[in-house]
Amino acid sequence: MPTYIHWFRRDLRLRDNPALLAALRASAGRVVPVFVLDDAILRAPDTAAARVVFLLDSLRALDQALRDRGSRLIVRRGPPAQRLSELAEQAGAVGLCFNRDYTPFTQDRDQAVHATMAARGVEVRSFKDAVVVEAGELLTKAGTPYTVYTPYRRQWRARVEADGPPPDERLPAFAPVPEQIESLAIPSAGELGFSTHQTIPPGGEQAGLARLAAWSGGEQRPGIGGYQTAREHPAIDGTSRLSPYLRFGCVAPIACLRTALQTFEGTKDEGRNSNASSKSAETLPLVLGHSSSVDAWIGELAWRDFYYQILAHFPHVLDGAFRRSYDSLEWENDQRLFEAWRTGQTGYPIVDAAMRQLNAEAWMHNRARMIVASFLTKDLLIDWRQGERYFMQQLVDGDHASNNGGWQWAAGTGTDAQPYFRIFNPTSQGQKFDARGDYVRRYVPELAGVPERYIHTPWSLPAAEQRRIGVVIGRDYPEPVVDHATQRAQALALYRRARAQDREHITKTDTYS
Ligand code: FAD
Repeated sequence: MPTYIHWFRRDLRLRDNPALLAALRASAGRVVPVFVLDDAILRAPDTAAARVVFLLDSLRALDQALRDRGSRLIVRRGPPAQRLSELAEQAGAVGLCFNRDYTPFTQDRDQAVHATMAARGVEVRSFKDAVVVEAGELLTKAGTPYTVYTPYRRQWRARVEADGPPPDERLPAFAPVPEQIESLAIPSAGELGFSTHQTIPPGGEQAGLARLAAWSGGEQRPGIGGYQTAREHPAIDGTSRLSPYLRFGCVAPIACLRTALQTFEGTKDEGRNSNASSKSAETLPLVLGHSSSVDAWIGELAWRDFYYQILAHFPHVLDGAFRRSYDSLEWENDQRLFEAWRTGQTGYPIVDAAMRQLNAEAWMHNRARMIVASFLTKDLLIDWRQGERYFMQQLVDGDHASNNGGWQWAAGTGTDAQPYFRIFNPTSQGQKFDARGDYVRRYVPELAGVPERYIHTPWSLPAAEQRRIGVVIGRDYPEPVVDHATQRAQALALYRRARAQDREHITKTDTYS
């Protein structure tokens, strides 16, 4: 029987892994599973220590899962094309399988691997895995990529419903990896030159599946059934926190979808069977609420795919605005203000709580991400790319497609962007989504004693009261670094200038063409 290599990249799991399944089937189990530590990624300026820690933890879990099945993970380090070519020679492999990735960097890397392997006569097969629906699978009637989320989501959902829940296929047995194929020991983060004080969740497939089960099975409260309302409140554990597991493929997006669709089916049945006599008045809204929550959560998986297809079709977004006219925005880029933002010292409690959550946990709630991204761009007038990079350097779920999409959305430079004139007010966002101030108190302990009424405006607390509770604004907690109303006006002017320049440019181009 021939030997195949399965090249693990961001699919660090055994279940629901199409490339691994294909390699096992094609070789009757004679698969050499490999992960290549690539210095081009490890040394990239936006690589986060948190992601390296999570990755290594996930690799250890993967190796153990393979050992439990009589196989083992081979670890190599260096340029993937070279290392895979050497491995193919050592193993006498005739085929290489991997799951596709979509950034320009990974596409170039994979092309190089393709060419090297083809030159050796090794068959290369790649598979869809990191997304539910791949770029190019869904196009508008005109045959162009979707650039607006709502119609994309509609088509995405119709396709997913039509396809039905994806099957959960049994993994064939592995043959042992021949002893002479050597592997590096999985290094520690320190050995790779990374360290962090952030609290990182455990990596690996089991940890990811356990989280998915808790999220959908009722162990985590409010869980998937309460997502619709709980998701907006950063103080509540109201979202799945599956993002790092999705980022590294410890859990497959189709596994999330399957679980959600099954939950959705269950709630639809309950809804269908319910009538006034068999269901109490209290139960019915809960059931309906439940299915709309599941539906909303499925919509997030669609957002994820949406941003992947944006990146695949419009790779220029990694360097500049999706709408190129906004590349001419004249940011102020005051680095003193950036530092205040980065360290959670802006004087706006919700912004500071969010940035401190990021710095401590390598993760931030989605509502908080939107607030701090809006604040950096529209209040501090700092280029969204600085925030985008800082997020990538900190986030355990840092993902080029979703992060770029989120930042461009908040900056108003992206696809179906928040219009530039809609600017988040950090105070009212705090009052609306953290009404009691629980989130602020958790991450900004110096404000713990501030009464609820002032928790999002501590600067307006009377001086005597500040002294009484032991938090003097300007001494124990900063004064607001900018005035929101002033900055809002400045931001509007900035965006209008960029738009006017663009119109001028278009008019001139029209005149001369
Ligand atoms: P849930 O609410 O449980 O959602 C389930 C999954 O859906 C998430 O794990 C994620 O994979 C996906 N998802 C949810 N919301 C979005 C979204 N708006 N866009 C794309 N996918 C989404 N997400 C990342 O995974 N990596 C990033 O680097 C990232 N950067 C962001 C930057 C900004 C400025 C903003 C506004 C959003 C960003 N997001 C990013 C999206 C979102 O904030 C996170 O996916 C979410 O907070 C993760 O928490 P969760 O797993 O509990 O999400």
